[in-house]
Amino acid sequence: MNLDLSEEHELVRRTVRDFAQDRIAPVAEELDREHRFPYDIVRELAELGLMGIPVPEEYGGAGGDTLSYAIAVEELTRVDSSVAITVAAHTSLGTMPFLLYGTEEQKREWLPDLASGKRLAAFGLTEPGAGSDAGATRTRAELRDGTWVVNGSKIFITNAGTDISACVTITALTGEDEVSNIVIPNGTPGYEISAPMRKMGWRASDTRELSFRDCAVPEGNLLGERGAGFRQFLEILDGGRISVAAMGLGLAQGAYDLALGYAREREQFGKPIASFQAIQFALADMATEIEAARGLVYRAAWLKDEGRPFALESAMAKLYTGELSKRVADRALQVHGGYGFMDEYAISRLYRDQKVLEIGEGTNEVQRMVIARQLGL
Ligand SMILES: Cc1cc2nc3c(=O)[nH]c(=O)nc-3n(C[C@H](O)[C@H](O)[C@H](O)COP(=O)(O)OP(=O)(O)OC[C@H]3O[C@@H](n4cnc5c(N)ncnc54)[C@H](O)[C@@H]3O)c2cc1C
Repeated sequence: MNLDLSEEHELVRRTVRDFAQDRIAPVAEELDREHRFPYDIVRELAELGLMGIPVPEEYGGAGGDTLSYAIAVEELTRVDSSVAITVAAHTSLGTMPFLLYGTEEQKREWLPDLASGKRLAAFGLTEPGAGSDAGATRTRAELRDGTWVVNGSKIFITNAGTDISACVTITALTGEDEVSNIVIPNGTPGYEISAPMRKMGWRASDTRELSFRDCAVPEGNLLGERGAGFRQFLEILDGGRISVAAMGLGLAQGAYDLALGYAREREQFGKPIASFQAIQFALADMATEIEAARGLVYRAAWLKDEGRPFALESAMAKLYTGELSKRVADRALQVHGGYGFMDEYAISRLYRDQKVLEIGEGTNEVQRMVIARQLGL
């Protein structure tokens, strides 16, 4: 057993860490305050090959493995969650359905622009009445004369409405109890995208409500087999959970780093607060739990790369890092005292950005349901 990362994985970490520190950290607070989508950063990430890490090179991606991708998402979230979720939702939710279920023609049509980061893709599963119970999809797609006519709505969809969004892959009922995945290109008549939703965190990321009114797309926009949509989105979510777990890990690491730095500088009672045992214990607990989380996340990624079952491990990693990031963000802010409550201190943004890690791609409760099912319960 060798737990060292390879040279290649270390290189991914160094590259993304440097980029996040040099290019994202200086503007993260401003983007968050202005709820501004980070177009320039996405363009630079694309140039670095980070918008399609696990997509094979023949389709315009970087040809990396899941572990490289997880490390990249971890390092981005360490500095800014809005940028990280933009990359993670685009890769795991927007792009992977094409790679996993697309015909060769669909892959050639969509993947080069998506994997190179020229365009973004979204995945529309959640509806106003179908959240955790995603199978309760109401959106309908009816096949009429070689055309899917779509009616319905989706909510909270990431990356759907940016200037560079190419399409959303939705789940829709194509028959009684028959769910299929259909690609809706941006700009299709009858596909309406709301103004950006205003959020507590991830404020520089793009989150929209979508509505479809007699929205017609060619029959060939079916992605995967007709009726396989339910199984397909469950698979997509299993993989996506690894990246959200990497976000929880990265956010916890970032919050810990901020707390450590602050504790060394801040003096009270004539000495740095880092010299007080209460602060040392808080930092020691954080560091210990973060290391445990890293083991869970990397193992889930490794299992996927080995082609072995990983649904249990990805749900465990997502659940654990969601709750861990809350504990760490809370303690790290406490170490900052009143300054941590102020917007100009990055920890306040990390604290707000944390909450959704316990909700998106399956709530903590849903992770427990997935884990229990995997345990045979
Ligand atoms: C910022 C953001 C971005 C998102 N991006 C996307 C996206 O790109 N694509 C997409 O499709 N979706 C996206 N989502 C949606 C997200 O996946 C859902 O919000 C999530 O799955 C929960 O669904 P819900 O909000 O309807 O909550 P609900 O399902 O209504 O849950 C409410 C509460 O009830 C609990 N609950 C529900 N059922 C059970 C049960 N059986 N047992 C115990 N407790 C239960 C839940 O855990 C939760 O605590 C995003 C959400 C947010 C906030």
